[in-house]
Amino acid sequence: MSVPVVYFVIPCYNEEQVLPETVKRLTQKLHDMISAGLAAPDSRMLLVDDGSKDGTWRQISEFSDHNRMVSGIKLAHNRGHQNALLAGLMTAREFADCAISLDADLQDDVEVLDEFVKKYMEGCDVVYGVRNKRDTDTAFKRATALGFYRFMAALGVDVVYNHADYRLMSRRALDALSEYREVNLFLRGLVPLIGYRSAVVTYDRHERFAGESKYPLKKMIAFAVDGITSFSVKPLKMIFNLGLLTALAGFTGTVWAGIAHFAAGWAGWIAAFWSLWLLGGFILLCMGVMGTYIGKIYAETKARPRYKIEEFKRSADQDAEK
Ligand code: UDP
Ligand code: MG
Repeated sequence: MSVPVVYFVIPCYNEEQVLPETVKRLTQKLHDMISAGLAAPDSRMLLVDDGSKDGTWRQISEFSDHNRMVSGIKLAHNRGHQNALLAGLMTAREFADCAISLDADLQDDVEVLDEFVKKYMEGCDVVYGVRNKRDTDTAFKRATALGFYRFMAALGVDVVYNHADYRLMSRRALDALSEYREVNLFLRGLVPLIGYRSAVVTYDRHERFAGESKYPLKKMIAFAVDGITSFSVKPLKMIFNLGLLTALAGFTGTVWAGIAHFAAGWAGWIAAFWSLWLLGGFILLCMGVMGTYIGKIYAETKARPRYKIEEFKRSADQDAEK
């Protein structure tokens, strides 16, 4: 197989603190890969500015003016990590033989990039980066992440355990991905659905070397709920089962109350009070679950564009080629 054109796709949201270092390290990495015969000379990194509020885009355009390995796209709004990544991948698809997605903070070890490309050259269309340990994460993040993967598996959703969005995709896989039109994007669940030949490469995850995580707990929970409800309707079936159970409990309770009526000292109002709150709670909870799905249907039927590219800055020599 000939040496592939490799694109690194990097979503960036308010990353001015990390970008100079990231670009420096990745430029070096690309050079090394080119010399090692793992990447063609017109390989690039594509930085996607996800509507940052700081100087991220200014930095990206400056890099692309001076560094022939850097291209950039600017999204018109902040659309979130998944959409920014998709925008980058769909742009890279036009130029690259394969695209590798990675985070701007280089928490994912870049040394395994060689391994990614080797697997691609052996004929894999998707290569998943999987963390082999999580000791740089807090105990809380580890526990919640584990719970999340277990729950997804229990719901029958095919996700690769401990794989975030560090992965290589061939152009063929990207073409397949482009056919999925959903607005509620959860790439980790979508990519396994494509089903081409895949491989796993393990690596150690580092700490973010500067700046702050853009994923606070609130966003993490929203992301998990999104992942679950985009790929499984089992929660709806659970509601049905919960309804059956409650009805059964209600029936037993009624019989029991009838008997207790004749026993002395039974405070019926306590039972009435609790069943009211319990049932009210159950019903609201179930409506919440249903509401989540309805909200998704609403977003999907409108099918609004998932991102808008406001500006595309190609690297200095790509412009010269035109
Ligand atoms: N990111 C983005 N848009 C957002 C939030 C995050 O493009 O709205 C990017 C961010 O710049 C980074 C990647 O997504 O490159 C992962 O974010 P972060 O490192 O903050 O998440 P964590 O590693 O803490 O889960
Ligand atoms: Mg990070």
